[in-house]
Amino acid sequence: MAVIVGVARETAAGERRVALSPETCKKLVAAGATVRIQPGIGAGAFFSDAAYAAAGAQLAEDAVAEADVVLCVQPPDNAAIAGLKQDAVLVGSLHPQADAARGEAIHARGIVAFPLERLPRTTRAQAMDVLSSQAGMAGYKAVLIAAQLAPRFFPMLTTAAGTIRPSKVLIVGAGVAGLQAIATAKRLGAQVEGFDVRPETREQIESLGGKFLDLGVSAAGEGGYARALTDEERAEQQRRLAEHLKNVDVIVCTAAVPGRPAPKIVSAAMVAGMKPGSVIVDLAAETGGNCELTRPGETVEVEGVAVAGPLNLASMGAQHASEMYARNVFNFVSLLLKEGALAFDWNDELLAKTVWPERA
Ligand code: NAD
Repeated sequence: MAVIVGVARETAAGERRVALSPETCKKLVAAGATVRIQPGIGAGAFFSDAAYAAAGAQLAEDAVAEADVVLCVQPPDNAAIAGLKQDAVLVGSLHPQADAARGEAIHARGIVAFPLERLPRTTRAQAMDVLSSQAGMAGYKAVLIAAQLAPRFFPMLTTAAGTIRPSKVLIVGAGVAGLQAIATAKRLGAQVEGFDVRPETREQIESLGGKFLDLGVSAAGEGGYARALTDEERAEQQRRLAEHLKNVDVIVCTAAVPGRPAPKIVSAAMVAGMKPGSVIVDLAAETGGNCELTRPGETVEVEGVAVAGPLNLASMGAQHASEMYARNVFNFVSLLLKEGALAFDWNDELLAKTVWPERA
């Protein structure tokens, strides 16, 4: 019997993305799977039920009830997990450790969970890397929000009403989101600087036309990520940054250390030292923010400086974010499908390192 792949409507508040696009639906059907979707799964991303049906999907309210493989963006609620088929495969951004009850629900049902945020960041995994694809959209949107909030142009303008100086934009953290933010701010004509604690980012920032801001701290960690700074390193970074920020118009914060709260980099005192009319967009708001004044989900004004802490920015660009997410998911699920049937090759590190709980 063909493997049944099921997708239900996302239920998390504000989530517009979907883990299956009409394009990946067609590919799954071509690979021999039966695809069942709940009507309306793509509404938030502007994919119609008709488009899925044309791609070979069956539409049913109970699309995931009998599914062997369930695809999602955010994890289903715990009652929905309890309603999945025993031993079903669940693929998505599941963050099982973030909620003990969710982990328990997955465990109790014997679900084979693949939280995609656990994928090792190897070259082979790049096509499945939802963290990267979604961070790209988040970095892009963060800069657009900053441009929208700023009482200034980003580009230099020479007009009959005189010359306008370009805005100075600083991107804090030059990972996937930060690099996309640099590229976007550059396209809008701003003077762009970036910094990071991983030394290899200097070349990446410069290749996008940005200037590397050297704050004298280098803290490369494992697996391509940063490590947390020591107290001395942090003090040095803070001292140099405080001085620099007095002449910056816009800060976009994207710094993160996996599994930890976002590093606090922009202090309240630094914000107080910025020019009125400056803007901070803190993409790290989700994990507490890089700026001490960030309130997740809100935009506050402190002494003339706007501090925005938008959440789930990838969902704001739901159509392209979903297209990319769905391709990532399809590429991962392809590892599990052998001639139309489910097969787990636990010697493949992409499966072995991603599955949760870890196998003994
Ligand atoms: P992330 O979201 O964990 O962190 C964002 C950035 O914040 C990182 O560049 C990090 O160095 C930086 N940062 C952390 N603490 C900081 C501090 N105190 N001050 C300034 N910056 C700080 O990381 P990410 O964007 O998901 O990925 C980071 C890197 O991992 C990528 O740039 C890339 O080199 C690598 N990567 C590899 C693959 C792959 O090969 N499959 C995929 C994605 C990313």
